[in-house]
Amino acid sequence: MANLLIVEDDDLLRDALVAQLQQAGHHTASAADGLAARGQLENARFDGVILDLGLPLLSGMDLLRWIRQRLLALPVLILTARDSIEDRVQGLNAGADDYLTKPFIMAELQARLEAMLRRSRLPAFGGSLEIPAGASRLRVDALLPRAWLDDEAMELTQREWSLLQLLVANAGQVVSREDVLTAWQSAPADGQGTGSNALEVYVHRLRRKLADSRLSIRNVRGLGYLLETPAS
Ligand code: CA
Repeated sequence: MANLLIVEDDDLLRDALVAQLQQAGHHTASAADGLAARGQLENARFDGVILDLGLPLLSGMDLLRWIRQRLLALPVLILTARDSIEDRVQGLNAGADDYLTKPFIMAELQARLEAMLRRSRLPAFGGSLEIPAGASRLRVDALLPRAWLDDEAMELTQREWSLLQLLVANAGQVVSREDVLTAWQSAPADGQGTGSNALEVYVHRLRRKLADSRLSIRNVRGLGYLLETPAS
C-alpha cells in the first residue's frame, strides 16, 4: 500500500486512475492542475506520483523539475501523448522514473507503478549503510538520496542525505564540519546556502527527522558532529 498523488486534468481519466489504484489498496490524492499538485506535495508525504505532462497552470514538466529539486527520491511516473517522443525524452531527462504513453491500459499502469514503487524501496546498486537505532533500524542508500527508518522512506534533500550518510558511516566518531562541507560540494544547494550556519540548519532538520528513533546527533564543540547510537 502506498500514498499516491495522481495529477491529471482529464476528469474521466483521473477518476478512473483513482478508482483503479484505490481498488489495488493504495491511498490516493488527486489534483487537476500543476499548482494544486504542488500544494499537495508541499503539505503531505507521498510514496509516488502519476503525472500527466500536459496540465493547466503549471506544466507537468515544470512540476517534475520542482519535484526533483526538493523531493529527490520521490518516484514519478509520467503520462505522455502517444506520438510525443520528445516529451518522453525530456521527461526522463528531467528525472521521471518511468513513463506511459496515452492511451494505456490500466493493467500496464498498475504493473509499472508497482515496479517503480518496489524499486524505490530497494537500495541502489551501490548498496546501503545500515545502523540499529534502538528498536528501529536506519538504512541509508549509498548512491541515491534515500534513507529508510524502519522501512519508512525518509524525506531527505540531497544535502540532508549526504550529511546523514557521513554520520552513519562514521557512527560513534566525530565528523568534522570540513568533511561535511566537502561532501556537499557535489550536492545542489536547496535554498539554505553553504557554510557553518547552513550546517546548523541541516543538523537541526535531521534531528527532527530522526526524532522517532533512538539515534541522536551530538554537537561536539569546535570539532563537528557525532551520531550516537543506543549502543555507543
Ligand atoms: Ca492533460
